[in-house]
Amino acid sequence: MKCLLCNHQLHWQPRLSQWLRWGPISEPVICKTCQQGFHHYQPPFCPGCGRHLEGGKEYCADCAAWRKRLGWGLTHRCLYCYDDAMKEWMHRYKFDGDYLLRRVFCGELTAAALQLGADCIVPVPVTATTMATRGFNQVTGLLNCRLSPLLVTISRGKQAQSTKNRQERLATSQPFQLASTTSSLAAKRVLVVDDVYTTGRTIYHAAALLRAAGAREVLGLSLAG
Ligand SMILES: [Zn+2]
Ligand SMILES: [Zn+2]
Repeated sequence: MKCLLCNHQLHWQPRLSQWLRWGPISEPVICKTCQQGFHHYQPPFCPGCGRHLEGGKEYCADCAAWRKRLGWGLTHRCLYCYDDAMKEWMHRYKFDGDYLLRRVFCGELTAAALQLGADCIVPVPVTATTMATRGFNQVTGLLNCRLSPLLVTISRGKQAQSTKNRQERLATSQPFQLASTTSSLAAKRVLVVDDVYTTGRTIYHAAALLRAAGAREVLGLSLAG
């Protein structure tokens, strides 16, 4: 098998401990060099957004601002830094539509989502236009577990978040509504998963709807931020 990113031959032999472990052996899909190009956030983490937090503060400036503005805040986890390697991967996966590249992070994001032990896992939805052009929801593609599609997008000619600057992102109005099949979420812990956390605007919009539907707690998880 070849590395999905650089096409070099992968030389991989499962270790004895992997053979002895119960369950399927997951083969790596990228080489060590490519793997080393991606960077996990290092502790201490901001408990709000999950990114690295400097200076012994309780929350980063962004998360403190959200809490002040809304009177509540998310507990969000970010797996990777949104650096050049991640941007490049995201571009190839999302915008070039290379669906196979979901395999680079699918296992890790799924494990992180399941580890949070939520009652339901809600992927951030994409618009019908994105679905028609891209052919897949990039978040759903990264999750190999049972999902609850409780949110749908409100159809209006909207500008893609990725083309907006910070101020435009923060000013975005609610892009989602609850799916017609959503019943009460009373007492439920709900996890919202997205691909990239930038200002938090998207996931806070999602969380506001789920809280209004009765969710006891809304958690967030993004691949990168
Ligand atoms: Zn490689
Ligand atoms: Zn934060």
